[in-house]
This record gives sequence, C-alpha cells and structure tokens, in this order.
Amino acid sequence: MPVPASHNESTELKALDLAHHLPAQADYQLLEDLGGSRIITHAEGCVITDIDGKSLLDGMAGLWCVNVGYGRTELAEVAYQQMLELPYYNTFFKTATEPAIRLAAKIADKMSEGNPDLKHVFFNSSGSEANDTVLRLVRHYWTLKGEPERNVIISRRNAYHGSTVAGMSLGGMSFMHTQGGPLVPGIEHVRQPYMFNEGFGEDPIAFADACVKDIEDRILSVGPDKIAAFIGEPVQGAGGVIIPPETYWPKVEALCRKYGILLICDEVICGFGRLGQWFGHQHYGVKPDIIAMAKGLSSGYLPISAVGVSGAIVEVLKTGGDFVHGYTYSGHPTAAAVALRNIEIMEREDLIARTREVTGPYLAQALQRLAAHPLVGEVRSLGLIGAVEIVAEKGTNTRFKGTEGTAGPLVRDICIKNGLMVRGIRDSIVMCPPLIISEAEIDQLVSTIEASLNEAEPQLRAL
Ligand code: PMP
Repeated sequence: MPVPASHNESTELKALDLAHHLPAQADYQLLEDLGGSRIITHAEGCVITDIDGKSLLDGMAGLWCVNVGYGRTELAEVAYQQMLELPYYNTFFKTATEPAIRLAAKIADKMSEGNPDLKHVFFNSSGSEANDTVLRLVRHYWTLKGEPERNVIISRRNAYHGSTVAGMSLGGMSFMHTQGGPLVPGIEHVRQPYMFNEGFGEDPIAFADACVKDIEDRILSVGPDKIAAFIGEPVQGAGGVIIPPETYWPKVEALCRKYGILLICDEVICGFGRLGQWFGHQHYGVKPDIIAMAKGLSSGYLPISAVGVSGAIVEVLKTGGDFVHGYTYSGHPTAAAVALRNIEIMEREDLIARTREVTGPYLAQALQRLAAHPLVGEVRSLGLIGAVEIVAEKGTNTRFKGTEGTAGPLVRDICIKNGLMVRGIRDSIVMCPPLIISEAEIDQLVSTIEASLNEAEPQLRAL
C-alpha cells in the first residue's frame, strides 16, 4: 500500500501546482480559490489514491482510457526492455521500427473483423492529432481523386474530436469554438442523436430518421459534390455518453454511400472494447473508411494514437507522391511496444467478450436500480460506458430551473467525496470504468451514485 505523503509535502505540491502548473481544461481562478488540484499519487486495479491518502473507485478509467486497469507490471517491463533496446526512432525518410510495424499489423487484424478493407495504420500520439491526420488525409485524398472542391466535413453538434485547432473545429462544442478561433473552415455541424434531450418520448426509429434527414438536408444544401466525409463517435463520450438508436449508424452509412461520402468513425473512446467489440462501429455493423483511435490503444500507459485507413484510400494516396504529414513521435517504438502488449492482455483476459456478455449487461442491470430514483430521468449504458440523467421532475426531461447544466458537477463532487470518481456533464453523471471492473465494484459504483443523489436532492431542490 502507498504511504500517504506528509502534510508538508502535500501542501508544498499544491502550492507549486498553483504557482507553475496549468492543468488541462481548468478554470485557473477557481483552482486557486480551491487551494489547488487533487494530486493523484498511486493506482492499482480500478482504484486511484490521492496525496492525502484518499482512495477512490475510478469510474472513469482515468480519462476514458485505462481499459486494462492500473498496476500492470508487464507493461512497465515491456517499456523498460524497449527503452534499453531502442527507446526512440522515427518513421520519417523510409525508416520504421519493429514495434510500430507489429502494432500496425495487430490493429489491422482487429479492424478486419468489421471491415476487411481497413488494413493500414498511421500513428500519432493523441486523439486530437489522430483527427488532425484524418482531416488532412481526407482532403488530400479528394484532391488526388481530382475533386479538390470536395473538402467539407460534416460533424455533429456537441461532438468531441479533440482540443487542437482541427480537433475542436471538427468537434461541435460551441463553448470550445468561442476560444482560440478562427476555426478550420469547411466543417458543418448537424443534429446529434441525443434522444433524451432532443427527442424525448419520440419513437427511436423516427428520431434516428429525423437526425439522418438533417444530415441529408445539409448535404443537399452545401452540395453533394462538395462533401468529403462524415465524422462521428459511435457513442458520443464527452458530449454526455449519447447512445444513438440502433438504426442510426446503418442509416448514416447508407447516406454516405448514396452520395459517395467517406465515413469516418472517431473510436478514441469506443475503440478497444468499450462497447463490447474491438471497435464501436463493429457493434453497429457499419464499415467506415477511416477510423481514429487512441486512449484504450495503450490503456493510457503511454501516449499513442492511430488512424486506420482503408486499402481503397491508400491506393489513391499512392498516386500522390509523399504524404507530407507526420509527427516526430509517429510510431514511437516504446509507446507501440506497450500498446501491443496492452492489446495482448485484452486478448488473453478476454476483456472484450467479458464486457459484452458479463460486465456490460451487469452494469446495465445495476443502473436500473437507479431508474426509480426521484432525480433520475433516464439511465443508459452500452458495454462499459453509461450515463444517468438528472431531472427536476420525474417522468420528464425538465432540468432544475435556473441551474441548467450544474446538477452533474454538483452530484459528481458529492460522488468524489463519497469515494467514486465519475464525471458530471451538464445535468448528467457519466461513467466509463476500466474493463477489468468486478461485479462487486459495479455495485459499489452504482450504490455510491445512489447515495450521492440522495445527498444532493435537498441542495438541488433548494436552488
Ligand atoms: N476524440 C474523442 C472521441 C475523444 O473522446 C477525445 C478525448 N476525450 C479525443 C478525440 C481527443 O483525444 P486527446 O485528448 O488524446 O487529444
């Protein structure tokens, strides 16, 4: 067991954090007011521990990524061995390394389960970089095909595709668009398949059809010969774990085929078992031309991401000379070696089938216990990702008036106090635990949310 830091050490680190460190996606004034960040020092299995010795069940797998759980000694050993042998080499100028090649072949094998033509892999270090690669690659592809005016990409409102300029432009989060623009031009945002908020009480098939019609209307208004691609997360993660009706993706795919538009799935969260398949699109039975992946690829042990590309697209790229794109760390051998072993762990422990057949259904059933709670408007999950919608009036999707969007963070903070790390997104609590989570830990996760909702209720009703 880790020894908690002394009071002095904890105080010193918090002061240094405030003085020098700018954490990601943070309100720096608020952090100062709070006296600094929560400093995580240790983790094992599904449990994280902070500098003051408080342990929390990690209901978020870090940031939707630690799929094989914490404390995997063999991943540390693989990194150590690879660093001794060849810590780094690049893949520019006709070079490659064994871990990058073997990882590409392994990913191709997993992609082929859904689409046998998805067999090529381009490496990057983060999900955002993967989507930057996607954007450049898609536009370059259409230029090589002699259709340079086909450069518009359709995305969805409230989508998350990263934080780089291309990533946040592709994403549909309006509060992100207000910072750091102008945005990358040529990106159109259409309706998201968020039934609880935007189609409450409607028939799911009719709702999915209306969302797909919105895409088609946009294709027609922009001009079908100007649309390069459609991009979407199979299940929107950061947007609030938005699980579309089952008919949505097949219909989106049919629309893309009708107008000759490339289909891109952002698998950064859904990839590597989250929905009970290697990739999220495989759950919905569609065949994208390009996919972006990161997070679960290495379970977050080292930064690495990848873009899966179809053979048909690569044949076109071959006609264009150099694809002048790449990163110093594309195919980083140490990160690739760790990712490869991470996938081997998932295979050995059968984590994908376990998620699909055992823990995913168990989570769905456990969440049902919350469905009757007076604050809960809906519970939903697929595999090991889920959400609880918080409402002011049972049986409706009406939020607490004047506080719209704050119920999630409020309940989240109480969950953390009660020993559970989850995320609050607007008026929902979302979860995405490591795929190794046990049934007992799922029960703990759900009962902590329930206790926290009980605790939050008087505060919310008093607002
Ligand atoms: N796409 C999706 C679907 C994501 O969820 C994320 C990260 N949450 C990204 C892209 C960006 O990944 P990164 O933070 O590694 O750049």
